[in-house]
Amino acid sequence: MQQEIDTLTASEPEHIAISKSTGIKIDWRDGHHSDYSLAYLRDECPCATCTGAHGTEPQRSNYANPGPFPMFKPALRMDSVEAVGSYAVRIYWNDGHSSGIYSFDHLRKICPCRECAAKYRSEPGTK
Ligand SMILES: [Zn+2]
Ligand SMILES: [Zn+2]
Repeated sequence: MQQEIDTLTASEPEHIAISKSTGIKIDWRDGHHSDYSLAYLRDECPCATCTGAHGTEPQRSNYANPGPFPMFKPALRMDSVEAVGSYAVRIYWNDGHSSGIYSFDHLRKICPCRECAAKYRSEPGTK
């Protein structure tokens, strides 16, 4: 797998604003701005359990789109956010989940804005 140089330098945050009840905002070195809601971040948890990386069934949460008959859940919150080296943050959720290490590279790729959706999440392999 090839890593592109421009995504490496782009995925360094200049400033991170964390609100445990609303979400995370990141200003990137390249001037881009990302705004992640709690539900979005929880649903995009990159851990092996949520993504099924170990060959198990993905246990992805569905906070952003709970469907017509959502099971009762207390409001999603982050209990704490901890830096992992200089490349990632680990989020402790109030639903007990804490195994997701969100690398800045991952966060940049899941930036919910339309520009990044087009750049990182549609037609892989094309520019
Ligand atoms: Zn997870
Ligand atoms: Zn973006």
